[in-house]
Amino acid sequence: MSSIAFIGLGNMGAPMALNLVKAGHTLTVFDLMPAAVKGLTDAGARAAASASEAVKGADVVISMLPASKHVEGLYLGEDLLGKIPSSALVIECSTIAPDSARKVAQAAEVRGITMIDAPVSGGTGGAAAGTLTFIVGGQAAALERARPVLEKMGKNIFHAGPAGAGQVAKICNNMLLGILMAGTSEALALGVANGLDPKVLSDIIAKSSGRNWATELYNPWPGVMEHAPASKGYAGGFGVDLMLKDLGLAAESALSARASIPLGELARNLYSLHSSGGSGKLDFSSIVNLVKREQD
Ligand code: NAD
Repeated sequence: MSSIAFIGLGNMGAPMALNLVKAGHTLTVFDLMPAAVKGLTDAGARAAASASEAVKGADVVISMLPASKHVEGLYLGEDLLGKIPSSALVIECSTIAPDSARKVAQAAEVRGITMIDAPVSGGTGGAAAGTLTFIVGGQAAALERARPVLEKMGKNIFHAGPAGAGQVAKICNNMLLGILMAGTSEALALGVANGLDPKVLSDIIAKSSGRNWATELYNPWPGVMEHAPASKGYAGGFGVDLMLKDLGLAAESALSARASIPLGELARNLYSLHSSGGSGKLDFSSIVNLVKREQD
């Protein structure tokens, strides 16, 4: 069993780390928010006072942070790479700009450290159930080294290509997710405004050609799915501001490749509007509130 340093224990990192503890790995964890560490130490992980302390003697280092600036700040700004043993494998799971992923991976390579970008899909439910999809960028041999650890947190593991390719694929996926959640919200609001029961309409769509991940697992309408963030006041889950970040990454990728993403740009503007209305910390499925009437 490996000695693993896990940094970033938010909505995703905490349940992912917990699955590694349950699998018998020795975990040393760190998060800037001390409260985030509690669930892990209760389960048997050791809390470190800093990221540098967490990586001492680690075989594997995993990070799950909000955005590019946090990842670059940690590995390059705080020079965590200078403290990680050169024999260690670094698995960076945050969704960040492909250029950032390449920059950090190159800096790791200079120090003789192997690093892969391994952003995930599957939401907090997938993280808790250990059924995440890992989308890996980096050397195939590095992915094989990571596989036994990734398999304890996920069910599907894909090799997208060289460093940064995992992020490119993840950004494409999340642009589609942002669009489909906004579209699903619009369809449900239209049905309800015309007298339909949102649960009945959701059941119909889930078995018809409009079905998608939102109608199957993550319905945006409160009360339709007991375990979805919509039924818990949009708490936890995947934040509006994180979706906005991913749609911003899609826009940057489109600009640099001269690609057209008219729906992605529209979705980015919708989530931006929603965030500036004060909903940035809510789950992204709260986008339904932009089109839902008060009385519904
Ligand atoms: P989150 O905001 O809940 O958690 C991030 C954690 O990182 C926080 O606990 C924060 O305190 C910690 N952190 C920030 N900087 C740190 C540092 N320098 N050192 C240590 N800890 C630090 O975010 P999340 O929902 O867990 O998402 C994490 C990443 O996963 C994001 O890139 C997100 O886009 C991606 N993602 C999220 C979901 C989801 O459903 N929530 C799904 C797939 C991918």
